[in-house]
Amino acid sequence: MRAVASPDLLTDAHQVLQRVFGYDSFRGSQQEIVEQVIGGGDALVLMPTGGGKSLCYQIPALVRPGVGVVVSPLIALMQDQVDALNELGVKAGFLNSTQTYEQRRRTEQAFASGELDLLYLAPERLNLDSTLELLGRGEVSLFAIDEAHCVAQWGHDFRPDYLNLSVLHERWPEVPRIALTATATPATRQEIATRLELTEARHFVSDFDRPNIQYRIVPKNDPRKQLLQFLRSEHAGDAGIVYRLSRAEVERTAEFLVANGIEALPYHAGLDKEVRARHQARFLREEGLVMVATIAFGMGIDKPDVRFVAHLDLPKSVEGYYQETGRAGRDGLPSTAWMAYGLQDVVQQRKLIDLSDGGEAHRRTLSRHLDSMLALCETVSCRRTQLLAYFGQDTPVTCQNCDTCLSPPESWDGTVAAQKLLSTVVRLDRERNQRFGAGQVIDILRGKKTPKIEQFRHDSLSVFGVGADLSDNEWRSVIRQLLAQRLLSVEGDYGTLVLTESSGEVLRREDPRQVLLRTEPKRVASAPKAKTAKAGAQEMPAEAEPVFQKLRAWRLATAREEGKAPFIIFH
Ligand code: ADP
Ligand code: MG
Repeated sequence: MRAVASPDLLTDAHQVLQRVFGYDSFRGSQQEIVEQVIGGGDALVLMPTGGGKSLCYQIPALVRPGVGVVVSPLIALMQDQVDALNELGVKAGFLNSTQTYEQRRRTEQAFASGELDLLYLAPERLNLDSTLELLGRGEVSLFAIDEAHCVAQWGHDFRPDYLNLSVLHERWPEVPRIALTATATPATRQEIATRLELTEARHFVSDFDRPNIQYRIVPKNDPRKQLLQFLRSEHAGDAGIVYRLSRAEVERTAEFLVANGIEALPYHAGLDKEVRARHQARFLREEGLVMVATIAFGMGIDKPDVRFVAHLDLPKSVEGYYQETGRAGRDGLPSTAWMAYGLQDVVQQRKLIDLSDGGEAHRRTLSRHLDSMLALCETVSCRRTQLLAYFGQDTPVTCQNCDTCLSPPESWDGTVAAQKLLSTVVRLDRERNQRFGAGQVIDILRGKKTPKIEQFRHDSLSVFGVGADLSDNEWRSVIRQLLAQRLLSVEGDYGTLVLTESSGEVLRREDPRQVLLRTEPKRVASAPKAKTAKAGAQEMPAEAEPVFQKLRAWRLATAREEGKAPFIIFH
């Protein structure tokens, strides 16, 4: 519902913007949002990281009578935020578990006596009756719920305490509420509105495009070396963040960078609180530091000149990827979001999903998130377009600032390759009752001459060596892409390859449909001609013919036994 603020208050808002914060004008939809909240209405604000969400509640809190109460999960940053506001002459305080009793008592007194403009609260404070009593003793001008996506149950930052925030509305129905987040899929937005009971709120959805960020995703082979090369060639002396999945990899990667002359610091939840605080402070204050971190690092970090964000492991979701890469280039200057990912990432993520508790529905959600992330990695079209489409935003078809736009990957008809690979997986499973990970399947396809693999030749496995036309790397790329297209899946600790419901479609086609695969740009020039779609890639290599005749016969026989339509391998 639209709220109307009096002209006087709007003048006040402009004056606060200029006199207190020292800015000439509002940015984007800030003004509209400020007007809505000053007028007493609720707001749900979706604005990318660095968009300027804080002012949307800070200014109304200064203009409206009473204290603005800000709920934020960023406990580690509260002191900094409050110090910064105090420096501007804004009377702000905070309450969280890091304080002494005495510090809390002083803040509580300041609140109750109306001395504060803003009070920052850790969400768990609202579970305490004493906090609700305290709020009852003063006048509240508004409730701001920052990082509101933390209420989304299956989101990547879920905080159970956020589920209790609807109590605010029940106790203080007349106080306007503003929920803010940089996470904006339509589903998350709906969940925020529902869980916080923001039924009447106006929604303010900003443009999520970050045109100054260049998105690039490369196949991973030797991640630390690839990172070093990337840093040396493009970001020497720049500040940036390197994300890793595990604490151990954070440590190793930071040590590796330091050993190679790059100033890097580790950050993960396993480090002492003081160490983390020190590293964070150094990253914010010094120039040109590289922070190697798990995703424990970054939310709420306002460092404008982060020139790159590098991922050496696959993020769990597109939302996570967007949030993390969004920490680059908040000053609007050119920045890079660079990621190296490989098959092992998929195996690892699947394993984590299998192990996660939370039930089948939860695992399905995580699995869907992973699939979207893989689709983004393997896309042959503009990454930005795909990224923004995920957030429900239409954009031009090409951005000219992502790797797929700048050097378009060639695509080739991978149907034959897909069929060879899937047939191998089927044959190993059905005929030999054996399941293998990608490495061994590739070795069998390529007919490697290692004792372990040669056994399959002696054993007359008919698919042995039918994939000798592609290199190891090319087969890995094929497998990654089949995983991304859900034509193949991985299972278990060793990432054994297994078929999916859709695999059969590829195997079964008499008239093979195109399985369009990307050729990594740097290999385009050297790629054999027969691999481009135009050059008739559907032709079966001559040496494979007898093999597939046999395979077809076997398929027909099996299918007859099972009373099913046969898979026809090749036409
Ligand atoms: P968010 O919470 O959306 O990530 P912040 O509120 O931390 O973003 O703001 C990001 C940066 O933008 C801050 O340095 C802030 O001072 C600056 N900023 C916000 N609004 C304006 C404005 N209207 N004019 C200039 N700078 C602004
Ligand atoms: Mg913020």
